[in-house]
Amino acid sequence: MKKETPLYFDYAATTPVDARVIGAMRPYLDGEGASLFGNPNSLHSFGQRAINALDVSRATLAQCIAAHYKELIFTSGATEANNIIIRATLKEFLKKNKGRGIIPKIITSVIEHPSIMETVSDIERDASAQVVRIPVDSRGVIDLGALKKHLDERTILVSVMWVNNETGVIQPIKEIVSVVEAFRSTMPKNNVYPLVHTDATQAFLLYDVNVISSGVDCMTLSAHKIYGPKGVGALYVRDTSIIAPFITGGGQEYGIRSGTENVPGIVGFARAAELVCLERTSEHKRLLNFCEYFFQSLKKSLPKVEKSVDCWSAHSPHILNVFVPYKDDAHIVLDLAGVCVSSGSACAQRFAKPSYVLHAMGHDAYRIAHSIRFSFGRFTTLQACDRALTIINSVLST
Ligand code: PMP
Repeated sequence: MKKETPLYFDYAATTPVDARVIGAMRPYLDGEGASLFGNPNSLHSFGQRAINALDVSRATLAQCIAAHYKELIFTSGATEANNIIIRATLKEFLKKNKGRGIIPKIITSVIEHPSIMETVSDIERDASAQVVRIPVDSRGVIDLGALKKHLDERTILVSVMWVNNETGVIQPIKEIVSVVEAFRSTMPKNNVYPLVHTDATQAFLLYDVNVISSGVDCMTLSAHKIYGPKGVGALYVRDTSIIAPFITGGGQEYGIRSGTENVPGIVGFARAAELVCLERTSEHKRLLNFCEYFFQSLKKSLPKVEKSVDCWSAHSPHILNVFVPYKDDAHIVLDLAGVCVSSGSACAQRFAKPSYVLHAMGHDAYRIAHSIRFSFGRFTTLQACDRALTIINSVLST
């Protein structure tokens, strides 16, 4: 008997590359046609064509977030962008303030992606900075009062993610910027700190992550969450002079991140970004319908199912995190039955760590162990949802 293709409900972990993105990338990979595979640092015509593609892609991506092209640094993904903003901001601050005995402070939250969590823990171990992790309430939203309390003249960076990758909960980025701006206004005029950084990796898909209207100073993006290729991302920085070189070498990416640029990946990223910006409004509506339909149908057949986040409007509808108290290791049971879901962040899952995000929201160990993240995307169909719901019902209710 032919085995059925597994059903994919893990778009928050990664998305397939859209055919239109592959089409845009292809000429930059092979030696056919216009021969666009050159190294953008070469001075001959192959290099010129490649650098032209790089410039156009940078301008396209910049436009999608209302930034200037000079404010974008291409990276190998969101993990690297997050590392750069933390480590290179700190390094530059320490260089400029050498001998002054200041221990800088970095404020972040308890629900960040491991690429922030582990990076701040690493610098904390080095004792090169003090780290404060702001708690969240039961809705998974950061405590603005705690942020206000911890801001001081030593604070160089406030980093809070825009949309959480496990729960989809949206953080109040504009309010965070207002709180920091109010604090900054009490400091000397030429002071640029604290900078506000947001990891918008999960937000870019369905929300207008506009750097002007949000007011953030720095922002992280990744291509493979928006139907682009893996291994490419970007860091937006309003003023690149505040960060030290992170990868030294040939001086690419304004000297901050050396290395031959991933031209096909960057071209694909820009095309993917263009497409999400064009299609975002209708896609948001479509995924909201799926998310509601999926939850209501689950609840009908498995009445003990509960949402991990109360309010629909407070989370991105591409993520549905639910408590499913029917079987242990339900994500594995479902995988074996052909429904691919996740028990939390793909990065933390590999090491079988319980969700620190749900823990921070006050969920107990049993609830955390029985929570599943379904995530939906561009190629999710109603038919696939119905097939998955039938399978889930049959394997979990028995
Ligand atoms: N931040 C968030 C919020 C994410 O969801 C992810 C991917 N799981 C990352 C950072 C890391 O992204 P990348 O795979 O591009 O390094």
